[in-house]
Amino acid sequence: MTSLPDSLPRIGLGTDRHRLVPDRACWLGGVLFGDCPVGPDGHSDGDAVLHALTDALLGAAGLEDLGTLFPDTDPTWQGVASESFLQAAIERLAAIGLHCWSVDLVVQCDQPKIAPQRDNIRRHLADLLALPVDRVNLKGKTREGVDAEIKAVDVTAVVLIGPTV
Ligand SMILES: [Zn+2]
Repeated sequence: MTSLPDSLPRIGLGTDRHRLVPDRACWLGGVLFGDCPVGPDGHSDGDAVLHALTDALLGAAGLEDLGTLFPDTDPTWQGVASESFLQAAIERLAAIGLHCWSVDLVVQCDQPKIAPQRDNIRRHLADLLALPVDRVNLKGKTREGVDAEIKAVDVTAVVLIGPTV
């Protein structure tokens, strides 16, 4: 088979992991966890939720991945808000007639607790993606004490994309 109709949906998977270190602002899903004593390390703001989501969108569309488009060796991206990566991915999809229609996310970390900000993150991501909030889901899980000495946040994102309507 050489091609499929453009109307068929496509799924994308993205994962990301950042170490959690002291004295870093803790941004996850574009929401600041203000009272968290640790935050994701990284060349940008380290927002692993936005990175995994961006990679899932790019992957679903068959585009180059986050690390290729926004390399951490490029000072342009130093300390940048990761929402710019997501916006750039949304624009690239739109340019080829694609829109994200559904998102599911799993965030694994022992700190911060995700539940108090879960609905804020869902609303925020839904706004960025131009989706109703019921199409953006997010689950917070602990790391069950595994690798207890190394604090980290792990995110898995699955998206469904399809033609713009
Ligand atoms: Zn990342």
